[in-house]
Amino acid sequence: MADLRYFCQSIPKIELHAHLNGCIRSSTFRQLLTSSDDQIRLDTLDKNFSSGDTHSRMANVFEKFALLRSCVTNLDDIRRITRETLEDFIDDNVMYVELRTRPRSFDNGKIPSSNYIEAIIEIIKEYEEKICSRLILSIDRTQTLEQAMETLKLAEKYRTYVVGLDLSGDPNIKSFERFLPVFNLAKDRNLSTTIHIGELPDEECLNENNLIINYKPTRLGHFNFRTNEQEQRVIKEKIPLELCPTSNLLTMKLTNLTEHHFNLFYKNKHPLAICTDDSGLMNCCLSSEIFDLVQTFNLTKQEIYDFMLQTCNLIFDKNMIDFCQKKLKDFFLKQ
Ligand SMILES: [Zn+2]
Repeated sequence: MADLRYFCQSIPKIELHAHLNGCIRSSTFRQLLTSSDDQIRLDTLDKNFSSGDTHSRMANVFEKFALLRSCVTNLDDIRRITRETLEDFIDDNVMYVELRTRPRSFDNGKIPSSNYIEAIIEIIKEYEEKICSRLILSIDRTQTLEQAMETLKLAEKYRTYVVGLDLSGDPNIKSFERFLPVFNLAKDRNLSTTIHIGELPDEECLNENNLIINYKPTRLGHFNFRTNEQEQRVIKEKIPLELCPTSNLLTMKLTNLTEHHFNLFYKNKHPLAICTDDSGLMNCCLSSEIFDLVQTFNLTKQEIYDFMLQTCNLIFDKNMIDFCQKKLKDFFLKQ
């Protein structure tokens, strides 16, 4: 087992579902909190992290995101978070990462959201030799259609580094239909899309799943709660899934990974990526996420390697597929 753990640690990996802010180191998060009230708030959130049902667990995560957002107040903060995030991924032998983030302005708009994106790209370039990083711009479920359109425009403006659009945020707000014009435009303009789907076990959420599947995004995130029919459609249409074991276990209230839907899709040879969502928030790393699944479902080194090779095909920057597959092959040959 120690050998397999080392193998998962050292194999070149791909991270496709990581919210940049959620990758913050907990020590950095603590440092950015300025008031003792905020410190207490974070302590309470940490304490209640895994208590209650799906709804309260999700609420906890979103409250933490809101707290984090409120304490990131300038471009230096976001540069620091990006730098530390990339260093952590490099340490974990991640060769390609797609970081997602919601563009934002600072100082009441004096520092526009384009500067925010440029600050992140500046750090991405600094680390280019060690890790290939791309950006996915997030549309939050609470935003207006106009704000979402702005995000699409920004994505187009920074196309070299921005490779797609994401829909995320509080799943209690059913707003995919509202954003459909933006996502249709993204498709027209050949911009990849990934949508969080099936995050809550309620009927409204299951209904929204149908709209999302009908749209057929480039990838889907989670797909925790779904009907049999929806499951079959996703399998039939081969819409790739981003699965995030620790995060899914938490929000689905599973006792262990044997109950996780990885196995079902894996057995169907469905296109899959294993991701962290997010290392800071979930206190995990990509190697451990992969190792936990490997251990639960008894995968061999060959199976892990084959799995990683197919994940390469799911990256949004198609120019980098060969690069990733070659790195994997070189690694495996040396085993
Ligand atoms: Zn997510």
